[in-house]
Amino acid sequence: MNREILINSAYIIASGLFIVGLKMLGRQATARKGNLLSGVGMLIAIVVTLLDRQVINFTWIVVGLVAGTVIGLACARLVKMTAMPEMVALLNGLGGLASLIVGAAEFMRIRIGESIPEHPAFTAGAIFLTVVIGGVTFTGSVYAFCKLAEWLSGRAVLFTGQHMINGAMVLGMVAAGLGYVVSGDPGVTLVAFLVFTILSLVLGWTMVMPIGGGDMPVVIAMLNSLSGLAACAAGFVISNNVLVVAGCLVGTSGVILSIIMCRAMNRSIGNVVFSGFGSKPAAMSNDGTAVQGELKPIFAEGTFSVLEAARQVVFIPGYGMAVSQAQHVVRELAEVLEENGADVRFAIHPVAGRMPGHMNVLLAEADVPYEQLVEMDTINPLMPTTDVAIVIGANDVVNPAAARDKSSPIYGMPIIKAHEARTVICLKRGKGAGFSGLENQLFLLPNSRMLYGDAKSSLQAVIAEFKSLAST
Ligand code: NAP
Repeated sequence: MNREILINSAYIIASGLFIVGLKMLGRQATARKGNLLSGVGMLIAIVVTLLDRQVINFTWIVVGLVAGTVIGLACARLVKMTAMPEMVALLNGLGGLASLIVGAAEFMRIRIGESIPEHPAFTAGAIFLTVVIGGVTFTGSVYAFCKLAEWLSGRAVLFTGQHMINGAMVLGMVAAGLGYVVSGDPGVTLVAFLVFTILSLVLGWTMVMPIGGGDMPVVIAMLNSLSGLAACAAGFVISNNVLVVAGCLVGTSGVILSIIMCRAMNRSIGNVVFSGFGSKPAAMSNDGTAVQGELKPIFAEGTFSVLEAARQVVFIPGYGMAVSQAQHVVRELAEVLEENGADVRFAIHPVAGRMPGHMNVLLAEADVPYEQLVEMDTINPLMPTTDVAIVIGANDVVNPAAARDKSSPIYGMPIIKAHEARTVICLKRGKGAGFSGLENQLFLLPNSRMLYGDAKSSLQAVIAEFKSLAST
């Protein structure tokens, strides 16, 4: 068989594995297998590419492979689940940087006459796109990483004329790109190349600047999409079909993820990027006045009494569960309640926590059965017949203002209707607001009780009450 057909057949198999793997990632039950299948696809793609390219010297490839494997393994073992968003941001950034380097290397090879493209304008256009998208992705992701890791303030940084300056940089980049593609003069192409490369690096930074730290997960999904597009363009630069396909898959899945997250927050992508959400603290209630009412504390003993009599219990986890790493204790309490005769479910809000699927990942890690995880739309009709809703470090995703108060910044965001349960027990450390900075009327309702403290410790205290009953 012809060598090219063989290579392209292997690429088609790899691409098929990517697509099936991605599809399987959509369901918890099949996600691990999907990840493995995509990994096998990537292995095939890498091996075939290495054989195809007739590599003269494998030394640097082996060095890169060993270094990457060591760093990857260390990260997989050391990075905490709560630090996963910044980890993803960093990986996206490196993807963008890799594409930028491929584009720059090809630019230099053409410049010194080592390679002569078949279609010079097409290749130049592809190099331009690879470099600018890669550059924006790189610095944008580094900024997102710094915000999430709290190396820089998570606050949205706004200044007058910001969007105009960003717009001017985009125009400058396009103009330099056109100059690069159409001009045959070596001096002009070099200057144009340097101009759009530098502008793209600056633009990545300034584009993420006016976006608040809490919106970073959406930004990361968008940057992930950009890193895919950069890889796709790099695929055209080096004429590698599987890179084009893989880049497209990353690009489109990133866009879909961004849209899903924005819908779940009832916001548009434009609002996330341009509104400066999170530029100032929003300690007031939704209409600008302090929320009135009384917070009614409850303690472990009281919580035990309420739960002991409950038959329908719904856990509503949020960001606080991730902070306190309470997922294992939550599962333990769920088991205790089931032994006590209660029907237990976990209500999952699509944007609870700080990254997509955050709660699913944590609860899966604690071996909570998949069947007990219930989507928001399925659980909400069951809330009025629920005896106890236990809110574990969730705030915005259970804020009734999102459903009732038209003046609220989160009005329209779908919520889990914890307030409709007969009793709501809210676990949090104090009066801290959620990501939106808004106060939450739920905590003041007559059927709400506040179990103050770190979620894990509070749950352990409640379990201890059940155990002491069992031992008497
Ligand atoms: P949230 O609104 O951020 O509230 C988290 C609550 O957890 C806080 O009120 C805090 O109160 C409490 N908490 C923190 N540490 C705790 C601990 N150790 N023990 C007990 N409680 C603790 O969380 P959420 O309800 O999950 O909502 C997520 C928010 O993030 C939404 O506004 C969503 O739009 C946004 N967001 C999510 C994503 C995503 O992909 N998931 C992406 C972008 C934005 P105390 O300080 O009083 O303890």
